[in-house]
Amino acid sequence: MKLDLKIQPLDSWIKKTAEPLLIAGPCSAETEEQLVATAHLLAKTGKVSALRAGIWKPRTRPGEFEGIGSIGLQWLKRAKEETGLPTAVEVATAKHVEEALASGVDILWVGARSTVNPFTVQEIADALQGADVPVMVKNPVNPDLSLWIGALERINRAGITKLAAIHRGFSSFEKSAFRNEPMWDLAINLKTHAPELPIINDPSHITGNRDLISYVAQKALDMDMQGLMIESHIDPSVAWTDAAQQVTPAALSELMSHLTLRKPEI
Ligand code: PEP
Ligand code: MN
Repeated sequence: MKLDLKIQPLDSWIKKTAEPLLIAGPCSAETEEQLVATAHLLAKTGKVSALRAGIWKPRTRPGEFEGIGSIGLQWLKRAKEETGLPTAVEVATAKHVEEALASGVDILWVGARSTVNPFTVQEIADALQGADVPVMVKNPVNPDLSLWIGALERINRAGITKLAAIHRGFSSFEKSAFRNEPMWDLAINLKTHAPELPIINDPSHITGNRDLISYVAQKALDMDMQGLMIESHIDPSVAWTDAAQQVTPAALSELMSHLTLRKPEI
């Protein structure tokens, strides 16, 4: 079944500074200095097309760092002014959408814990009505393709045509080297339903382990995914969230230089 999505091509809303497309930045904005310094180092690599940072963090369990909150929008603004990198942030409520749009964030994304809930996704979609902002939708935590498609449809029906999917892997009971199983078949299946929908791979949240990122990133490129989102922190060992999977901007640059693009079929 082909989906009825109205999609604008990726290059109409994100300027690729290098191949493959790379969105990078810390899991969480922690301090203004950490975010701005990381952004400068990422911009200097010349390989990053947008800066990501979570400021509202949907933690699975309470009592952990839940994001710096709205103040982080000002830090993102400064990072953009100083580096020229467009910014991307996760939104999980209508209020997040309103604040992010008001502060000029360039790209929004819906996180895996929001995609599972149609009420949450609809609330986000309603807040997006009339906005001309690109939105990326992560797969739901659980391996349910319909929930992923449903979320993409809700956002698209709100008039968002600058749309992409993010493949970040799926929670599983199986013992595995990965934090979230890639279940590549699911991403391929999405592609068959919506060939024009760009899919960006997130090897950071799939692996949960910085040593495995390049393996998964290469596999995503081999499967013709349109880009990568990778978490990068100026000092990963002291990161407040997802410390084991973040890489320094220098390590990210090195990792990217070893990836090869899929050769066009002749
Ligand atoms: C994130 O991008 O930092 C994040 C919380 O990811 P996910 O929604 O994929 O768990
Ligand atoms: Mn993270």
